[in-house]
Amino acid sequence: MLNVQDIRKDFPILNRKVNGKPLIYFDNAATSQTPQQVIDVIVSYYSNYNANIHRGVHSLSQEATDAYEKARITIQKHFNAKEAHEIIYTSGTTHGINLVANGFSSLLKKGDEIIVSALEHHSNIVPWQMLCERTGAVLKVIPMNEDGELILADFDALLNEATKLVFVNHISNALGTINPIEYIIDRAHSVGAAVLVDGAQSCPHLKPDVQALDVDFYVCSAHKICGPTGVGMLYGKEEWLKKLPPYQGGGEMIAEVSFEKTTYAGLPHKFEAGTPNICGGIAFAAALDYMNAIGFENIAAYENELLSYATERLLQIDDLKIFGTSEEKTSVISFNVGTIHPYDIGTILDKMGVAVRTGHHCAQPIMDFFKIPGTIRASFMFYNTKAEIDAFVVALKKAIMMLS
Ligand SMILES: *Cc1c(COP(=O)(O)O)cnc(C)c1O
Repeated sequence: MLNVQDIRKDFPILNRKVNGKPLIYFDNAATSQTPQQVIDVIVSYYSNYNANIHRGVHSLSQEATDAYEKARITIQKHFNAKEAHEIIYTSGTTHGINLVANGFSSLLKKGDEIIVSALEHHSNIVPWQMLCERTGAVLKVIPMNEDGELILADFDALLNEATKLVFVNHISNALGTINPIEYIIDRAHSVGAAVLVDGAQSCPHLKPDVQALDVDFYVCSAHKICGPTGVGMLYGKEEWLKKLPPYQGGGEMIAEVSFEKTTYAGLPHKFEAGTPNICGGIAFAAALDYMNAIGFENIAAYENELLSYATERLLQIDDLKIFGTSEEKTSVISFNVGTIHPYDIGTILDKMGVAVRTGHHCAQPIMDFFKIPGTIRASFMFYNTKAEIDAFVVALKKAIMMLS
C-alpha cells in the first residue's frame, strides 16, 4: 500500500496555489511533477561536481563521468536490458524515435512497409512519413475501434514479407489505452520485422522488461517519470544498434577522425554526439530510484483506484462522454461535455486551480476518428488523491453551469 499523504510531502509544487486556489495537477500525461529527492540530485550536481564528461583527467570530470555512467546502469537494470551499452541517452522520446527512423533510412528500400498504429502521438507519425519520403517505403496504419482499441485482426492482415518495421505506443497518451504489445511484437517478429515501442506513457505506470518483451527498440522521456525535461532513453537490442548508422556527427561519437575517413565509436557513444544532458541523466536515474522505492505494483494499484473512482464520478454528470473505454487502460480520462468546447472548460477550471489538458493531445487522427476537435484530458499520478477528484468534479460542474 502507498501512503499518499506522505508521498505528497515529497513534491513541493503540490503546496502552491494557482489563481488563489490550491493546485490540483491533473496534467500528468503531459509532464509529471518532480520530488524533492530528484531536485536535490540536480542541485547537488551543479553545486558539487558540474564538469564535462569522458574527456577530463581532473577529479570533477571523473566524478561527473562516474555518476553519469552509474545512472546508465540504473536505467539498464530498471528496464532489464542485457547490456548497459544498449541504453542510449537521448533528449527524450521524440529524439529516440527520430534516431531510429533516421537509422532505418539506410536499411529500407522502395516498396518496404512500415506499420504504425492509429493511436499514435504526432511525434510517432511524422518521422515515419519523412522516412517513407526518403526511402520510398509505404506507411500502413492499424485501425482502432470505438473503444479506442487497436483492431488486431486488421494488424495481422497488414503483416507480410515486405513489413520491415512496426511502431506502436505502449499506452496511448490521448486515451490511456494499454496496447497488447506482447502480441504485436510476437506477430511482427514472425515476418522478420523490427518493433519500436513508444513507452512515454507506460513508464510512469509500469516497469517494462525489455528482454521479456523481446522488443527491438523502446523509448521514453524522463520528465513523465518524475525526472527532468530534456533527457530520455532509447533501448535498442545490440544487434540492431550495431546495424544502425549514427544519427548526429560530433564530439564523443568518434573513434578516429581524419579528413579522409572517420571511424565511429562503439556503443553507446556512437549515438551520443556532443555534450549530453549530464545532470539530466543522473537525475533520470534518481527519479527511477524514487519510483522503485514506492514500487510500481503499488503505484499501478493506487492509480487504478483513482481511475475507477474518477470514471464513476464523471459519468454521473449529464451529457459527459468519455473517449477511450478499453478495459485495458491507465489513469487517463479524455472526455467532452455536450457541445461545450473543451478549451472553455479548461480555462474556467484553471481559474479554480485545476490543471487539465485540452485539445487534440498531439493525436489529431484520433480526434478525427471520433469527429471531435479535441477533448478535456485529466491524467492522474500516484501523488493525486480522491479528494482532489472530488474538488475537480465540483469545479467542473460549476464550469458547465457557467457555459450552458
Ligand atoms: C509525451 C509523449 C511523446 C513525446 O515525448 P517528448 O518528451 O516530448 O519527446 C511521445 N509519445 C507519447 C505517447 C507521449 O505521451
